[in-house]
Amino acid sequence: MRSKEGRKLKVYLDYGAAAPTDPRVLEAMMPYFTEHFGNPSSVHSLSHKAREAIAEARESVASLIGAEEPEEIVFTSGATESNNLALKGVAIRNRERGNRIVTTVIEHISILNVCKYLTRQGFEVVYVPVDQYGVVDVGRLEEAVDERTILVSVMYANGEIGTIEPIAEIGEIARERGVPLHVDATAAAGKVPIDVVREKIDLLTLSSNDLYGPKGVGALYIRKGVKISPIIHGGGQERGLRSGSENVPGIVGMGKAAELAREEMEAEAERLTRLRDRLISGILERVPESYLNGHPTQRLPNNANLRFSYVEGEALLLSLDSLGVQASSGSACTSKTLEPSHVLLAIGLKHEEAHGSVLFTLGRDTDERGIDYVVRVMPRVVRRLRAMSPLTPKELLR
Ligand code: PMP
Repeated sequence: MRSKEGRKLKVYLDYGAAAPTDPRVLEAMMPYFTEHFGNPSSVHSLSHKAREAIAEARESVASLIGAEEPEEIVFTSGATESNNLALKGVAIRNRERGNRIVTTVIEHISILNVCKYLTRQGFEVVYVPVDQYGVVDVGRLEEAVDERTILVSVMYANGEIGTIEPIAEIGEIARERGVPLHVDATAAAGKVPIDVVREKIDLLTLSSNDLYGPKGVGALYIRKGVKISPIIHGGGQERGLRSGSENVPGIVGMGKAAELAREEMEAEAERLTRLRDRLISGILERVPESYLNGHPTQRLPNNANLRFSYVEGEALLLSLDSLGVQASSGSACTSKTLEPSHVLLAIGLKHEEAHGSVLFTLGRDTDERGIDYVVRVMPRVVRRLRAMSPLTPKELLR
């Protein structure tokens, strides 16, 4: 299938799995691989530049999320490590106070698998359900928080179905009960404004790559006064919370990415929302028995998760790939299993409905031309796959 001009287009719509590093970020990083390679912990003058650069990056990341002090930011190797540090760090530190952790059924696997581990260590984890759109049941969450609860952990937005959670409301409940709130903002940061003070967030996970920074770096915001234990021990870098010589170029890159995200987020979110809605309505109008997964309005500007009856998602992805369109079946991190997505099952989809879902995540290079190309090829691709399925009703193929 060709574009109007007759050429096959390349349309990358899997930014949720991986994003290119912004050239401006790369440029900011380069000197820290070469000229300014010093270790920030050294005494000599070569270390100054690295120390200053890390301080600047810390300020920039703090500013993106409205943190009051740069020291509230701890750099890590990515969102998975930040989530591990938040949950294990709070659990170990507060063992004497209680053993209950309240989270949700739609968290990322890097939260759910830490919870499984902590359960084996004697902690009790309560998983709060969500509604058909993926919105956390705040009433059930409130009931679950008791006097033994040491942590509430809820994601800011779900990267798979795009639903944005009522974090300010949850923050209010947790703060009132004196329980720290951890928020995994990996999929949301740089897409929607986050304010840790206003939303009463105590710990917050960030990933650099989701901000168009390099991979292999992330951060955990830890509100001043919130006590956690380290999970990596060593030379005591990052206020003793994350030992190991700092990844200076990576941290500089994340700082630059956070600065750009803060400056450009508003206009970019508006642009992406328009393209997202064009993609969603274009496909829903042209493909019979296609549906949107997740919340219709309270959703990330770059997320469109669509479901097609009588179609197998993986086959659809391969067909799209052959036409130059790269999308995803859900979280790239769990694609190694053949199990349907736990998020799609949690919003009430049947196994076959979950398997018939495709995730498009838009980004900086997505434009109208690419979106219109996908909208144009989709009906034919779906129809062809449906024609091969014995389950497809005849009237759908007419
Ligand atoms: N949390 C959420 C909400 C995610 O979407 C992801 C994946 N991008 C992660 C955590 C894990 O990120 P990483 O694999 O970069 O550690």
